[in-house]
Amino acid sequence: MKLQTIQEKLCCPFDKSDLNLTVISKDLQENVVEGIIQCKQCKRVYPIINGIPVMSPDEYRNFELERPVLKRWDKYIDPEKIDQFRLLNE
Ligand SMILES: [Zn+2]
Repeated sequence: MKLQTIQEKLCCPFDKSDLNLTVISKDLQENVVEGIIQCKQCKRVYPIINGIPVMSPDEYRNFELERPVLKRWDKYIDPEKIDQFRLLNE
């Protein structure tokens, strides 16, 4: 998925708010391969894994599966600060 598509087309599935995107890696076609999407409103965190944004509702997500991924990205985000898929304030 292109960065622009993510920013223009996607919104938070929970509250439809705008998103902040942190790009971690891109491929040669400028598609975002890995990244972190965060809702500006509810602070939910959605990882982009292998080019696919994981934007399922909370009940279809398993944080234990996402934690190892976020742990690899710990210079961008601290998984210890995420509760109920939401980034807690510092
Ligand atoms: Zn939200």
